[in-house]
Amino acid sequence: MKIVFASGNKGKLREAAEIFEGFEILPISAFPNWKAPEETGWTFLQNAVIKAEAASKLSNDYAVLADDSGLLVSVLDGRPGIFSARFSEEGTDAANRAKLLRELSGKSDRSAFFVCSAVMIFPDKTMIAAEGRCSGRIIESERGGNGFGYDPLFVPEGFDRTMAELSEEEKNLLSHRGKAFRRLIGILNRKTAATF
Ligand code: IMP
Repeated sequence: MKIVFASGNKGKLREAAEIFEGFEILPISAFPNWKAPEETGWTFLQNAVIKAEAASKLSNDYAVLADDSGLLVSVLDGRPGIFSARFSEEGTDAANRAKLLRELSGKSDRSAFFVCSAVMIFPDKTMIAAEGRCSGRIIESERGGNGFGYDPLFVPEGFDRTMAELSEEEKNLLSHRGKAFRRLIGILNRKTAATF
């Protein structure tokens, strides 16, 4: 099955291609008319549906996959949450991480978790959705060169390495996106079996 992934984030695209092994994941850049929609929702699920619906309008031949994800920090009352990509004014990964470190400066509670809402829309416009979470803590300075976003600052529960120090396979096994995508694949397999 060919699946179009509605994201311009290269890190997410690599992860999706590995997790959806056996499926053909196409980048949204395959559609020159693609324009990322404004994320006007107030939940991860709403924003994932907005992206999936926008991509689905461009393609009646392929299933589409979209996700919306972010980091929720306990002592910041769940911020940056749905605004994780736009936390700092610059909106770059490096500036977002620097702002996070400033806001957590001197705070002893460093607990946080990632959430990912993932949505697929099929050519018949039916939709499935799943969520995944990954708990951990924010460390005081960056470590590691893999991954993207807040990975160099996030140590998953039960580990002493940051997500940016894990291999892609290790990250996908425990990450919020890995869990959400594998749940989607489970639903997809049951859905496909039910139609025969
Ligand atoms: P989205 O593309 O609107 O879903 O924004 C997701 C943002 O959340 C990213 O730009 C990152 O800042 C953060 N984020 C989501 N997933 C991850 C991850 O796996 N590692 C690190 N940061 C992530």
